[in-house]
Amino acid sequence: MDIRVRKIYEALFALEELRELYRHALPTGLDDQEEALFSERIAHLEQLVEALKAGRGTPIKQVTPDLELRTREEEFININPIQAGGRLTLDARKALIAYGDGYSVCDRCLTGRLDEIAQPPIAAFHAELADFVGMDDVRVMPGARRGFQAVTSSLVKSGDVVIVSDLAHYTEFLAVELAGGVIREATSGDEHIITGEAVAEAIDAVTRETGKRPKLIIIELVDYSYGNLHDVAGVGRIAQDYGIPFLCNGAYAVGMMPVNGKEIGADFLVGSGHKGMAAVAPSGILATTAAWSSTIFRGSSIMGDSTGRSFENKEPELLGCTLMGATVLSMMASFPAVKERVQHWDEEVAKSNYFVREFLRIDGNRILSEYPRRHTLSRVDTCASFDHIAKTHKRRGYFLSDDLKKRKIVGEFAGSTRVWKLNTYGLSWARVKYLSAAFLEIAEKYGLKIH
Ligand SMILES: *Cc1c(COP(=O)(O)O)cnc(C)c1O
Repeated sequence: MDIRVRKIYEALFALEELRELYRHALPTGLDDQEEALFSERIAHLEQLVEALKAGRGTPIKQVTPDLELRTREEEFININPIQAGGRLTLDARKALIAYGDGYSVCDRCLTGRLDEIAQPPIAAFHAELADFVGMDDVRVMPGARRGFQAVTSSLVKSGDVVIVSDLAHYTEFLAVELAGGVIREATSGDEHIITGEAVAEAIDAVTRETGKRPKLIIIELVDYSYGNLHDVAGVGRIAQDYGIPFLCNGAYAVGMMPVNGKEIGADFLVGSGHKGMAAVAPSGILATTAAWSSTIFRGSSIMGDSTGRSFENKEPELLGCTLMGATVLSMMASFPAVKERVQHWDEEVAKSNYFVREFLRIDGNRILSEYPRRHTLSRVDTCASFDHIAKTHKRRGYFLSDDLKKRKIVGEFAGSTRVWKLNTYGLSWARVKYLSAAFLEIAEKYGLKIH
C-alpha cells in the first residue's frame, strides 16, 4: 500500500465532504452550524495534507464500509488486456467529479435530443467525432455492443444470416441473436487473420446453401483474442462487391490507433468508449455513412392510440437518449487527448514489440499473436516455461501472480500460466522496461534459461 496514494484518496473524499455542505445549505450561504462544520472539515483536510506531505498515517482501505478502494492504476502497473485503453485521462476524472449527478447533461436541453445539446458542447463533439473516425454521422452508445445491436435490430430479420469472424466477440453473437439472425463464421486460418477472401468464401457458401445473400457482415479491425489486425479494407471491398452492408468493429482500435471508416469501406463503424476512448463505462460510438444514417438513426413512428402522442424526434435504436451524464462527458473530456494519442500509435506498437522481444528471451515463452506486433494486446503461451514451474510450485499457477504482485504488477489472469493475454497500451517506456525486466527476473529466480 502506498501511503501517499491512500492519503490522496482520503483528501479527495474530505474535499467531497466539504462540497457536500453546499448541496444542503441555503444558496445564500452557510449558517453558523454549517460554518462550524466547514471549519472542522478544513482542519481535517489540513491534517490530511500534512500526513500526505510526511507520508505517514493510517492508510484508508474503503470508500464505504462495503466498497473497497480501487488503486490499481496508482499503486500498480496494470496489464489487464481490456482495461488499458479505458483508463481515464485527468480531464475525464475531473469531468466525472463535476458531472457525476444523474441526468447532468440535461441542464440546457432544448430539443430533447442528446446529440443536439449545445451546452455542454455535445452537438459539437458529435460533429468532431464523426470527422475523427472518417464517417458522416455518429451517435454515442452504451458500449460497442449497443452499437452492434442498433445495426442488427435495423437490418436483420428472423432467419437472416450475418457473417462474423471465427474470432468474433460474444457481443456480436448476442446482437445477432436478439434480432433473430443466424451466425456464419468466416475463417481466420492458421494465421488468425481475417481477409476479404475468407469473407467472400463465407458469403458464397451461404448463398449456395440458402439461395440468399447474408444481410450483414461484422468484422473486427482488431480481435480480442490475439490482438491481430485484420484486413478490414479487404472486407470492405468484398462487402461493396457483393452489395452487403459492412459493420467494422473497432472496439480495440477506435481511440487507440488511427481509424477511418470510409477508407476501410465500412458502412458502420463501432467503437468502445471504455475499451478504447478513455471513457467511463458503459460508453461507445456508432458511426455511419450518409447513405445509412436515416435507416439506423431514423425517427420514431409509433403513436399512442388514445393520446395520439408521437415522438418523431426520438431515435428508437437509441431508445431516445443514450449517455446522459458522466459517461458522455468523460468521453468528451478525454477526446482532445484521444485525438492526440492516436497520432502516437507507432510508439505504442514499438513498446509492445520491445516487451514481447524481451519476453521471448525467456526459454519456452511463445507469442501466439502475429509477430512483430501491430497492436498492444498480445496473447502469449508460457506452457513450456512458467507452467513447468507451476507444476511443482506449492502455489501452483498462482506463483506467477504472486511474483508479479510483489513487483507491483497486476492484471494478468490470476493462476494462469499457460495461455494468457496482456496489454501494454499507455505504459510509459520506463514502465514497459520495468515490466519486461520483472518477467526476466522472475524467470531467473526459478532457473529458466534466458536467451
Ligand atoms: C471489448 C469488445 C467488445 C465489447 O465492447 P463494449 O464496449 O464493452 O460493448 C466488442 N468487440 C470486441 C472485439 C471487443 O474487444
